[in-house]
Amino acid sequence: DSRPSSSAGPGNVKVVVRVRAFLPRENDRGAECLIEMDPATETTRLLPPPGSDLANSRTQSRKITEEKSFTFDKSFWSHDLEDEHYAHQEEVYNCLGEEFLDHNFEGYHTCIFAYGQTGSGKSYTMMGTPDQPGLIPRTCEDLFERIENNESANVSYSVRVSYFEVYNEHVRDLFQPRTDPPSYLKIRESPAEGPYVKDLTEIQVKNYSEILRYMRMGDNSRTVASTKMNDTSSRSHAVFTIMLKQIHHDYKTDETTERLARIRLVDLAGSERAKATEATGARLREGGNINKSLTTLGRVIAALADPKAARQGGRNRRDVVPFRDSILTWLLKDSLGGNSKTAMIACIAPSDYDETLSTLRYADQAK
Ligand code: ADP
Repeated sequence: DSRPSSSAGPGNVKVVVRVRAFLPRENDRGAECLIEMDPATETTRLLPPPGSDLANSRTQSRKITEEKSFTFDKSFWSHDLEDEHYAHQEEVYNCLGEEFLDHNFEGYHTCIFAYGQTGSGKSYTMMGTPDQPGLIPRTCEDLFERIENNESANVSYSVRVSYFEVYNEHVRDLFQPRTDPPSYLKIRESPAEGPYVKDLTEIQVKNYSEILRYMRMGDNSRTVASTKMNDTSSRSHAVFTIMLKQIHHDYKTDETTERLARIRLVDLAGSERAKATEATGARLREGGNINKSLTTLGRVIAALADPKAARQGGRNRRDVVPFRDSILTWLLKDSLGGNSKTAMIACIAPSDYDETLSTLRYADQAK
């Protein structure tokens, strides 16, 4: 293995926040924006909703709504298109995607998560729209552009993709037609590769349009399932993986070396807490499982970002990181920590104090 060793630790974990624009229904009810961002300091402020003191005293709620302030690696102001600081999809890619792809071409794994309540802009940020492509299509486009520019007599590349969702601590292949009852895949562990999904479909792709077609196909499978099953897509974690293999051939020594990098792009389940009244039976279990994955993920990233844990190095460090506590973190173990780079994008709605506070706190503990 000819890879230069890069140091593990806090530099490999990035936490950013993005606030979206008002939706028509929020505009219609005259919602107020409770978020302020300072581009100079990357500070995000959450303001109490107007009249909240009054509301609190009337309902005798002891909930404290006060101004809160958080600082992240980057704050993307995507609220007001007219504003000069408006962060477009391109800027999100330039800030995270490019750097992460550099890392992949050096032979390392990366993982980008979008976290937030349903409707906060996770899919918009990861997938985007045909007019406003998000991180995933931009990464794919840049990937094939780089491959075309780098390919030579002694360097060739192979790209494979897989797409699965984790729902209720079960794994479903998004490249396979949906069955009823759903068929779930088993998780295995190999000494060399660590945990992996057995029989997961991996498809070799040759260019951008091919990868895009498969991505849409998988996305479709997720959406079809969700309309049949009460919008499960907001309750499942979707993991799109690109496996980039670089093959170097040294003509002098006639030796061939291979480097594999995994690019993980994850649209997490909605982080909204299961409302006590709805949460019964299957829903309750599901809610618990979503929270288990999200809570564990938060703990894993916090442990990786913690310089104390990182300094212990080697096996010890891995022992204190609770990868095994959820299917999602267990499967992503290879792409988290070590020489991998991880980013968490906390997506927030502009006028929802409670959910936004919970998202900002989650992101804050992951720093
Ligand atoms: P989630 O995946 O978190 O449930 P979505 O990505 O579906 O949320 O976003 C909810 C709605 O808000 C969608 O209609 C989406 O197009 C819109 N939206 C989200 N983020 C932005 C943004 N930065 N700019 C413009 N529209 C956005």
